[in-house]
Amino acid sequence: MSIVVNGVTKLYGLQKALDNVSFRINTGEIVAFLGPNGAGKSTMMKIITGYIPASSGSVLVNDIKTSSDNTEIRKKIGYLPENNPLYPEMYIREYLGFVASLYKMRSSVKKRINDIIEITGLSIEQNKKIGSLSKGYRQRVGLAQALIHDPDVLILDEATTGLDPNQVVEIRNLIREAGKEKTVMLSTHIMQEAEAICDRIIIIDKGIIIADDEKKKIYSRQFSHKQIIRVEFDRETITGDLLKIPAVTEARMVKDNIWLIEAEGEEDIRPAIFNYAVKNNLTVLSLLKEEKTLEEVFRHLTKG
Ligand code: ADP
Ligand code: MG
Repeated sequence: MSIVVNGVTKLYGLQKALDNVSFRINTGEIVAFLGPNGAGKSTMMKIITGYIPASSGSVLVNDIKTSSDNTEIRKKIGYLPENNPLYPEMYIREYLGFVASLYKMRSSVKKRINDIIEITGLSIEQNKKIGSLSKGYRQRVGLAQALIHDPDVLILDEATTGLDPNQVVEIRNLIREAGKEKTVMLSTHIMQEAEAICDRIIIIDKGIIIADDEKKKIYSRQFSHKQIIRVEFDRETITGDLLKIPAVTEARMVKDNIWLIEAEGEEDIRPAIFNYAVKNNLTVLSLLKEEKTLEEVFRHLTKG
């Protein structure tokens, strides 16, 4: 099941929450929809699931146009809304039965509820009221209701926000497991989340898509396998000589005999710098690789 978003714009009054957004998610992909708060993630997801209409543009789920009255499409989509609204007075089984009835599931509902309770790790809490569950277990109930009708597409809006680190790991594992046989779109404002679960990342900021690629390509496009080494020698050397080290593209002294050396390529440049020092009778006082993270890529892309 693919999701194709074509030039979607959404206005709330005069405010543009989405500005001509287009992207495509292919069958079986797990894609992160990454962006700061207010970027338009939840709005996009509500439009894909048919909960609100777009002001213009269209969304196709498996080549069928979504709209708020298209129940056939809704049956194919599992949706975990942001903040996971649940009924605290309902028992887990009662709630899942209620959701199943909304999807007009008729056959073997009981078995499906049992299976989904097992899959989402709810077994030991299965006889409790939703209101008495911890946040981590409530999130499992949220996933259970999204999965109950065995949809082909899962839309998860900030599924791990507000969970403690152990709960985050457990929920991520559940998502990864479910993602093996489904098309998954998962929104998050946390880079580590996108990095941990997804292969492809779509970055949105202020309603505009600013990056859409495989995770490793997003890294490399931004920093093109650039390495930056911070090295301190015991005495002077010159830029021209440092530039002769293979793969080095830039050498800049930032302080007395402390240099920032940039190099292209995958191979660690540090041994070459060390050899350079030995050859030139320099002592290396310190040698540090400056790491670039997806977080920096994200900040770089969303700044201003
Ligand atoms: P995100 O999920 O990325 O945090 P949202 O889609 O919730 O972003 O919001 C995008 C923008 O649209 C924000 O500026 C938000 O204030 C605005 N917005 C969202 N929902 C509404 C609404 N129902 N009415 C008016 N403005 C809204
Ligand atoms: Mg949101």
